[in-house]
Amino acid sequence: LENTYIGLDIGGTKILGALFNEEGQILKKEKTSTRASKGAERIIQKISKVVDALLDSENQEETQVLNAIGLGVPGIIKEGVIQFSPNLPWSNFPLKEYLEKTYNVPVFMGNDANVSLYGEWTYGAAKWSKDVVGFFVGTGIGGALILDGKLYSGNIGAGGEIGHMIIDPLGPYCGCGARGCLEAFASKTAILKEVKNQIFRGRETYLTKFLEEDEYILKSSHLKEALEKKDQLTEEIVFSASQNLGIASASMINIFNPELIVFGGGLIEALGENMLPVIEEFAAKYSIKQNFDSCKFQLSSLADKACLYGALGMIKNRISL
Ligand SMILES: [Zn+2]
Repeated sequence: LENTYIGLDIGGTKILGALFNEEGQILKKEKTSTRASKGAERIIQKISKVVDALLDSENQEETQVLNAIGLGVPGIIKEGVIQFSPNLPWSNFPLKEYLEKTYNVPVFMGNDANVSLYGEWTYGAAKWSKDVVGFFVGTGIGGALILDGKLYSGNIGAGGEIGHMIIDPLGPYCGCGARGCLEAFASKTAILKEVKNQIFRGRETYLTKFLEEDEYILKSSHLKEALEKKDQLTEEIVFSASQNLGIASASMINIFNPELIVFGGGLIEALGENMLPVIEEFAAKYSIKQNFDSCKFQLSSLADKACLYGALGMIKNRISL
């Protein structure tokens, strides 16, 4: 019999799943929308739908057997229980136990940013590094730390929230209730808000056409297209987000003296090549020279599969994050 493994990436907008073989190759992928607004029960059904589709025997060899499930979930997770999730309607939900009972295999679970950095560390850009900082920029900003060769999760498992590092205490309000967090300056949500403000003030921008279709959705690919069209507002806003990511990087560099900072997430996947030089420029400007000089900056090499590979890494090493 050959072992297979399932990795899941549970996001606020979509659920991704992959079936891996023993060698870590992806045999099958599945994707569905989360529809978080429809409630906790509905999300469980969606997760089961993805797992069932991955296990569907149509293309499955009869000799393959599911060995374990790994997954990354946004929020604070302790001992397999989702204590709190900012984008999902769960509190104190024992997801690990539920999946173990349903599929009768061990389940390894962690915060999505931690799992994503773990993916980069076991299979991607951060391989073999001792001290690594990870920024995952999307709807929000996820952060994770590997310190002294070990993922650092803090006292109650809520550490590494780099997205909620305060850049400016008088800055814009953040989803966490504080003001001026990095996330309130450089996430896709923050960018959308600023674009809308500027349009309201009469600025002309290539982005208007996307927002006319749906005022709540601005995709990273839209921003990329607008940059290619040399849209001035987009250039300014992406520059400003990169600048703030650079300033946050400077603090991380000074505090942790990492050898590597990895940048991932949807926004970076689309705009990383444009953003990274600016991030580095501002990190250099605001950090101690020796610390900066000993730190490399890299884009995620696993892109939207970082969390899935991190799930596989957790399974292989028999740990939850
Ligand atoms: Zn915050």
